[in-house]
This record gives sequence, structure tokens and C-alpha cells, in this order.
Amino acid sequence: MDRPNYHWQAIDWQQLTQDYPPPGLFETSVGQMSEGEIRALQNTRFLARVAEAWQYPFYRDRWQAAGLEPGDIRSLDDIEKIPTFNSDDLKAAFERAPPFGDHQPGDPAYFRDAHLRILTSGGTTGLPRVTLFDAQTLEIQGIQSARAFWAQGLRPSDILQITYTNSLANAAWCTLNGAFNWIGATPMTTGAGIVTSSERQLQYAKAWGTTAWFTRAEYLARLVEVARDSGFDLHGLKTRQIHSHIGPDAGGLRRKALEEAWNAPVYDNYGTHEIGAVAFECREKAGLHISEDMVHIQIVDLESEAPLPDGQVGNLIATSLYRSVPPIIRFNMRDQLALYPRETCGCGLCTRKLSGFHGRSDEMVKLRGTNVYPLACMEAVTRNPGTNGEYICIVSHEGEGLAQREKFVVQVERSAASVAPEPLRTELEAALHRDLGVKVDVEIVDPGATAPHTGLGLQNKTKRLLDLRR
Ligand SMILES: [Zn+2]
Repeated sequence: MDRPNYHWQAIDWQQLTQDYPPPGLFETSVGQMSEGEIRALQNTRFLARVAEAWQYPFYRDRWQAAGLEPGDIRSLDDIEKIPTFNSDDLKAAFERAPPFGDHQPGDPAYFRDAHLRILTSGGTTGLPRVTLFDAQTLEIQGIQSARAFWAQGLRPSDILQITYTNSLANAAWCTLNGAFNWIGATPMTTGAGIVTSSERQLQYAKAWGTTAWFTRAEYLARLVEVARDSGFDLHGLKTRQIHSHIGPDAGGLRRKALEEAWNAPVYDNYGTHEIGAVAFECREKAGLHISEDMVHIQIVDLESEAPLPDGQVGNLIATSLYRSVPPIIRFNMRDQLALYPRETCGCGLCTRKLSGFHGRSDEMVKLRGTNVYPLACMEAVTRNPGTNGEYICIVSHEGEGLAQREKFVVQVERSAASVAPEPLRTELEAALHRDLGVKVDVEIVDPGATAPHTGLGLQNKTKRLLDLRR
């Protein structure tokens, strides 16, 4: 039959707000649940998602190979019987069953009947991973963002400047949906620097009265530089809060520098393309509240994948409790964080929390027997006033055959052409040696020189590793 599908009919809105409460309802419902209550809710949703996952060859084949049959998983207590997967496994799924993989539906009838969006994870090499988003999933990811924004103080009277591009990645869309659909704030979708230049971002913020920002920490730092170079007064803006992804910042120096430059609180958040914005800081800035009705999280050992005790940093394994298409069951994100026990926070919410982001284990470079993470260079670089905080790690091979070695160079931008390179290089090499536990070479370059590799300001994500070994 040939007829349009109306989006407003694709969702039972009343049911949705009951099942996945948006701000205003979340704080007094899911945000107050006891360990037992949340576990029961997670259990029901987990079993429903597992039953759906059995329909897809990706899960069926992997699980059967691990000796599982439908019905074997009877509760959340059995979750560790299920094998994990990572982005390499998804890559193989796309190769087996192009273009959408064998872990999500691809038949035309489904595309006709469901309200779908095609979104992708940030493209690294080759085609980016496509993830289908049905109407409800997209809305739930909006609710996730809205919970975070609300806890950080975003209100209907705020004007929110979103410096992520509304394109194939979902971050900008979920932010937009969250602020617009579930708070009623006023989003300003300037996009990343490639869409609206940094100079114009600042002009618009001033002209239209931006009070809140959704911006990655690297780009916040970039805007500080642009403001300084052009004599723009960031303190003259009406900024009340900044929703960001701060990255590794154990000493809190990065956040402190940004907050001083912007004269506003900067809040950390954690999320990924598939599971959405699952954890957020509140105004207490004491760990990231997890939306536990939407995701089940384990932190595991890098090698053995055995669960680690609370407080220890390991790989994050996520199971989405709301997402049917595609199901996400035990995805090893290879993001490194720590998990903290449930407690009532100063903001009134009672949830488990996550630490800030410590790095990505798949960006790890093994250098003379030591694991080196490109993001672990950030503190040493940011701390030194001779740099502007920008850098890229370049790993390559030098020599031939048996004499072949891995070469690891950190290119660091000096803050101005007047900064002498030699003393800065020596200081950074010493600081990096201390932080990384292994000696690396530093090369000082001019401001802006690493941008073609990092994509700073132009792309949604900033790259810190250029791997020339392959
Ligand atoms: Zn809190």
C-alpha cells in the first residue's frame, strides 16, 4: 500500500516517557531507585534485548559457537556467559552482509514500515559503520542528553550553541532532540568549525546571547585561542554552562583552565554512537551519573575481560537496555573508565557513577614493552604554557627486516612562533617520559601545524594518533 508514515504515530509518547523518564520525571523515579529496583528493571529489559538479538546471525552464530542456546540466558546473572564483541567484529559483520551487516535488519519491508535514520560512527578508515536508528531509539538518545543537560542546569530559557555538525554522526542530533524536545531550550545549530568558522561561532554567541554550549574540550580550547588572537572577550558572553567531553584530566587542570577562560562551569559526559549519552556529570562534578535504566555497564580487565573491582580502570563493556535495532549486547567499547558504587549524590540523584575517560585501549601502542596511549600525552602537553595544548602522536616503522623498530614521535604545537623550540622540547620529553613510563621523541611545530591530522575544529572528533605502520 502506498501511503505516508507519520512520525508522530511511530511512537507511543505516553508510554515512552513512562518507560524512559525525561528530566522532570527522571529525578523522582529511575534517579531514586534502589539497587534491587534497578536490577529488576535491568533484568527485564536485558532478557527482552537478548531474545531480539537471537534473530540476527551476528549474535546467533557467535553465541552458538560459545555453546549457548536460546533460553540459556535466564537473567542478568548469566551475562558473563555471553561473549563480548568489539568494533572489529562489527567490521566483519558489514563485510559478510553489506551494506548494513548481519547484526541489524536490511530488508526493504522493514525500511518501508519502520521510521529509520541512517547514522554512522565517526569514520576512521574506509566506510564508517552504519547504525540504524528507529524513531524510538533516536528519541531515547535525546532523553539521555536531556537528563544530562538538566542536571547541569540547562533550562527552557537557555540558548544552546551546538558545535557538532548535524550530519551522519548522532551526537548533534541527540543533543538537538534532547534540548529541543525534552527541555524546550533554544538550540543554535552552528555545527563544527568547517560549517561555521570559529570567529563566527563567537560572533553569533555574542549577537544572539548563547548561554550554554555543547562543545568538545579541544574545541573549547581552540575557541579560547581564537578569542585571544582576535581580542574577543569570552567573559563578556552570557555563558552559564558548558556540556563537554573533557577527556583524560586526572589532575583537573584541563577543566580548570577552560573554566577560567570561559568563566563558566564545564561538565564532563560519556557516551558512544551505539549506546548514546549514558553518563553525565551533575553540578557536583563528582563522577558521571549512569542512566542505568538504559544501559548495563561492566568494567573489565584488558586481557582476561574479567570484571574489575569498583574504582579500577579497565575496558567498558556495554549492553544497551533500550535498543532493539540493532541490539547491542556486551559491546567492548575499548574505552577505559572506572565504575563507582551507588550512592546518593549532593544533587539528589542516586545512581552508580563512572569516572572520567582515561583513554582508548585500541589506540594503545606497544613501545619497547610499554603500553602507550596517545591521550595520556595530553596532560603533559596541556600543563606546559609553551604549548597551545595541541599535539599528534605519529607512530611509524623505521629500518628494515630485523632492524625494523617502531618510532613514536609526539608533534606538539608551540603557543606562538616566539617560543624557543629547544628548551620546550627537552621539558616535554622529560614530562612525557614521566607520564608514559617510556622515552618518546618530541618535535615542536608551529601553531595549527597538527590540525590537518587531528581534524581539530573541523571534525566532531579530534584524532591524537596517526598510525603509519600499516
Ligand atoms: Zn549528582
